[in-house]
Amino acid sequence: MAVPARRTSKAKKAKRRTHYKLSAPGLTPCPNCGEMKKNHHVCPECGYYDGKDVMNAEA
Ligand SMILES: [Zn+2]
Repeated sequence: MAVPARRTSKAKKAKRRTHYKLSAPGLTPCPNCGEMKKNHHVCPECGYYDGKDVMNAEA
C-alpha cells in the first residue's frame, strides 16, 4: 500500500486550501427567475427544473 513519504507541512496544507472557496460551489442563477439556486436541484423560488414547472406539475 502506498504511504506518504513525508507529512504535509502546515504551509503546504494552507496553500492548498486557499482554493477551496474561490467560487460559490454548485450555485448558479436560475434560468427561469434569476435567483441563485443549487445545481441539479429544483429552484426554491419558482419551482422550475430543466425548463419545467416541477412543483406545480407534481401538485
Ligand atoms: Zn427559479
